Amino acid sequence: MIQARGVAFAYPAGQLLCFDDVSVEQGGTLLLRGPSGSGKSTWLALVAGLLTPSAGVLRVADQDLAALNRSARDHWRARHVGFLPQKLHLSDALTVADNLALVYFAAGLPVDRSAIAQGLAALGVADLANRKPTQLSGGQAQRVALARALLLRPRVVLVDEPTASLDDAACATALQRLQRSAQACGATLVVATHDARVLQALPQAQVLAFHASAVGAAA
Ligand code: ADP
Ligand code: MG
Repeated sequence: MIQARGVAFAYPAGQLLCFDDVSVEQGGTLLLRGPSGSGKSTWLALVAGLLTPSAGVLRVADQDLAALNRSARDHWRARHVGFLPQKLHLSDALTVADNLALVYFAAGLPVDRSAIAQGLAALGVADLANRKPTQLSGGQAQRVALARALLLRPRVVLVDEPTASLDDAACATALQRLQRSAQACGATLVVATHDARVLQALPQAQVLAFHASAVGAAA
């Protein structure tokens, strides 16, 4: 579940970004649509508690984010939010399996090696567990990063521009995989995209429109 009311944010020395209200039920899918620079990635960071809004109320997975201090927010995010960023941030120094193990450290939980193996298997990449990220194709790396995002069965899965480098067939497959995986753990799925193909592939999704004109509208 995600509820946003009157949310606005300004980067230091930046213009005020004002976001439309939205309410998504638990397990639903929300598409963030709009041109580059309209605030989609910023909105994801706000919902993940990585940024603090200048105004407004955000409830995510039954949590009012303003009620958490920074440390509690980091713990809450590690436990309940799966993030598939545009730049995947896999460590090239670690194997795929150890990249996934970091999720447990961040959440203060003991590492569950069999859950890591199962998570990779669910995305068809079990055989990549002992490789380094530099030895993966782009599509393989994205599946590994999705397995990492889903490992703790988060309440919310946030995905930023997942189709940027994919052809049409791979785009449809990747989006089906995302939605199936999120539904399998009952998570609310949010996909930020400026790619029109995504709306076709997820016709049932709720849409939150971002507008270039929203930048500075209330400044
Ligand atoms: P989108 O994801 O829709 O392309 P962003 O959320 O990345 O949009 O950016 C929204 C606005 O905020 C843009 O004007 C962008 O230049 C600005 N912006 C993004 N990140 C930063 C940052 N770290 N510092 C300052 N301004 C930023
Ligand atoms: Mg973006």
